[in-house]
Amino acid sequence: MNKQDFNDAFLGFLDASPTPFHAVLNMAGMLENAGFISLDEKQNFDLVVGQSYYIIRADSSIIAFNYSEGFEYILVGVHTDSPNLRIKPNAEIKKDGITQLGVEPYGGVLLNPWFDRDLSIAGRVSYKSKDEKLKSTLIDMQKAVAIIPSLAIHLDRDANASKTVNEQNHLPPIISTCKDFSLKEELKSMIEDCEQVLSYDLSLYDTQKASYVGFGDEFIASARLDNLLSCYVALITICSTQKPMMIICSDHEEVGSVSVSGAGGSFLESVIERIFPSAEEKARFARSSLLISADNAHAQHPNYADKHEPLHAPKLNGGVVIKVNSNQRYASSSQTIARFLDAAASIGEETQMFVTRSDMGCGSTIGPMTSAKIGIDTIDIGVPTFAMHSIRESAGSADAYSLYKILLEI
Ligand code: ZN
Repeated sequence: MNKQDFNDAFLGFLDASPTPFHAVLNMAGMLENAGFISLDEKQNFDLVVGQSYYIIRADSSIIAFNYSEGFEYILVGVHTDSPNLRIKPNAEIKKDGITQLGVEPYGGVLLNPWFDRDLSIAGRVSYKSKDEKLKSTLIDMQKAVAIIPSLAIHLDRDANASKTVNEQNHLPPIISTCKDFSLKEELKSMIEDCEQVLSYDLSLYDTQKASYVGFGDEFIASARLDNLLSCYVALITICSTQKPMMIICSDHEEVGSVSVSGAGGSFLESVIERIFPSAEEKARFARSSLLISADNAHAQHPNYADKHEPLHAPKLNGGVVIKVNSNQRYASSSQTIARFLDAAASIGEETQMFVTRSDMGCGSTIGPMTSAKIGIDTIDIGVPTFAMHSIRESAGSADAYSLYKILLEI
């Protein structure tokens, strides 16, 4: 696949994946097209060497693997979720002639960019059907249905100096001037066999499409680059290779990963135990394999250059970033770094190193947690981006493709 086709399909994947549920559904579709076989955790796994499989848990996490002889696998760990605004269960707030929606920030949202955006709603709805069955379905309203208006500058003269956002008071978007607006009734009208909407996992998202930016299309701008970019790269890689490989795409990284489908949960361990049932096999797999934890990295922003360690300041389109933290917030070791560098150099791909400033706190990823739980040597890497956790993030248009080539090589 050439870079242009790779990036064009990536923009389509971003637009079609407003929530982790949609991302996983789209990934499953792409895996099916590539010949992967669906496994159900509730049924026996009857595995055949040479076949490829995928398993979905809780609609928002997915593991796929090429089942191969031997124990030496390349694992790629990524996350499917992104910070956003989730709609509360009792959603409608009616005051001053306007209906608003109560929302709760999910993860570390950069809040200011959410104002004045044409927002839509997507997620999973659970309902009782007309034939009295409990069902769930995914919805994506697609059209703009909500907006969080800013306060005019005339009413807040200090807004440009410091705009603080109160999560409870300032975030509810306006959604209607109709007095008897009901979100559940709107949802019911969208679902063909719905008798009653019982519950939902819904979030707001920006209707602006993913796009190239720059005179030479040097940049990609979109919501959810963190971490659908890495999901997409991992997915395209495993669909392009027969080598022993597994991708683990987990929900809930942005809120600590402790959930039924998160990387702090049992999903990966459970799947590994079913592929390698004996303790002997499981240990041989873990100690023979390499986990590449792929999550976006902070590129050095030219307007805020001093936020970076001068000698470890990644640049957009400068290549994949290797993340190092001696306090184990990243799981990279000199040995896993050497292996990654060697693979990149063998195909002429540039890489960059990231270390956070010594006087600043360091983020983390699913890397250290998974490395510790499974006992697998790990490297933390990612594509450099700006505006992480904004409603619109940006990345270079060369780096994701470079990561894809390295993952095929390693
Ligand atoms: Zn991330």
